[in-house]
Amino acid sequence: MCLFCKIIKKEIPAALAYEDNDVLAFYDINPQAPKHILVIPKKHIESLNTLVPEDSAVIANIYQVIPQIARTEGIAESGYRVVANTNRDAGQAVAHLHFHILGGRQMQWPPG
Ligand code: AMP
Ligand code: ZN
Repeated sequence: MCLFCKIIKKEIPAALAYEDNDVLAFYDINPQAPKHILVIPKKHIESLNTLVPEDSAVIANIYQVIPQIARTEGIAESGYRVVANTNRDAGQAVAHLHFHILGGRQMQWPPG
């Protein structure tokens, strides 16, 4: 079972930011910004590349949850970045689809 599936099953502890039937959000263990939260589907999906049409609802839910979390964290107005690293060149380290929410500081563009 993958690392994030273990977090979903509460076999590995994580500091949760949000949970519903289909979506889990938790604080990144190695934060890259003052606010760094990962939002994941509870269904194991490896990456954006392996999404199937049946996953559309959960992805839509995730994009509803993201601004809710941003508001709760106090970064909705100041701003935040959402990142889904996909495969090697993007540096995807965990093969379970996840959306990084990064905020609380000025972001740079282009990203590294
Ligand atoms: P990525 O490089 O896009 O695959 O992102 C994986 C993220 O998962 C990294 O930002 C890690 O810091 C984070 N991470 C790895 N293990 C844990 C964990 N046990 N709890 C919370 N975040 C984790
Ligand atoms: Zn998984």
